[in-house]
Amino acid sequence: MEYRRMGKTGLQLSALSFGSWVTFARQTDDHINERLMMQAYDAGVNFFDNAEVYSAGLSEEMMGRVLKKVNWDRSSYVLSSKAFFGWKGEAKKPNQHGLSRKHLMEACEEALVRLQVEYLDLYYCHRPDPNVPIEEVVRTMNTLIQQGKIFYWGTSEWSAAEIMEAHMVAKGLGLEGPSVEQPEYNLFNRMKMEVDYAPIFNNVGMGTTIWSPLASGILTGKYNNGIPEGSRMSLEGYEWLRDRAVVDDKLARVKALEEFANELGVSLPTLSIAWCLSNPNVTTAILGATKESQLTENLKALEVLPLITAEVKDRIDAIMGTKPVVIRN
Ligand code: NDP
Repeated sequence: MEYRRMGKTGLQLSALSFGSWVTFARQTDDHINERLMMQAYDAGVNFFDNAEVYSAGLSEEMMGRVLKKVNWDRSSYVLSSKAFFGWKGEAKKPNQHGLSRKHLMEACEEALVRLQVEYLDLYYCHRPDPNVPIEEVVRTMNTLIQQGKIFYWGTSEWSAAEIMEAHMVAKGLGLEGPSVEQPEYNLFNRMKMEVDYAPIFNNVGMGTTIWSPLASGILTGKYNNGIPEGSRMSLEGYEWLRDRAVVDDKLARVKALEEFANELGVSLPTLSIAWCLSNPNVTTAILGATKESQLTENLKALEVLPLITAEVKDRIDAIMGTKPVVIRN
């Protein structure tokens, strides 16, 4: 396993990490979650990602039970959660979501209880909240740090301007700004990581824990000939994702990319994940997996990383046509 420093912090994250979003949503008992987490940990994965909204709090509970059972040394792994969406679904009341001091403080406390830990290493604002002043967010996250409930705070899917504002507010108050951002990053979605955040990487030096490196599985090629039964896109409640992701235009490019992967002698998922890791601004790619075989395959991405040369990147850009084009006047 390779470990990367999270931005300007001293924290080291494994370049491949493990998240529980849809993965844990499908389990009725902890057995497979435990096996997947143990497989990841044994391979050197040290970062496990979660959020209050995943399975309406159940995902944190499941991970908490597994962590308690496996009883790893708490200092050997990094644990995260995120607040914003709340965990009460449609029934949520006004202060049971968002980034107000009230919700952040309460949500953090609830996450600690569900995960059965004394602190979170990383705590994210899962989305920006236009109804809360950034100063309130910065002050609250710093209170949580001072209380020892979280070690670092971060953002997820914030714009570059919002992140910079948080840094400037924090600096003015002598407080800590966000040290990590969690954006989507994969061969279909590159703008934020490669263009929008460039000034942040250059000037502030944030880490990134990128999500959906396989675009929810599209970049494995498994949807090239239809929707396999039991796959994420076949699940009830994820129609929105299927409609957005399983479209002919994308699949044609995935098929061409698969041919290129064959030419290189590697699998499509490992090529797609290794491509993400070839961006030096990626601290870790968070993997999702519902089967041990998927994890076994995806963990090989680090072996493929040395193959991602400038020429290979050019070939991938030509196939995918998703390299951001920046027009500066
Ligand atoms: P991916 O894009 O890697 O998709 C993972 C899914 O793809 C798996 O669950 C599996 O789905 C399928 N898959 C993975 N590997 C293979 C393989 N080798 N062969 C065939 N199918 C495979 O990541 P996720 O979308 O799951 O995101 C990863 C993590 O990122 C989440 O768990 C979460 O922690 C975080 N995240 C954060 C978000 C945010 O807003 N901050 C948003 C979304 C995710 P299946 O078996 O069901 O087909």
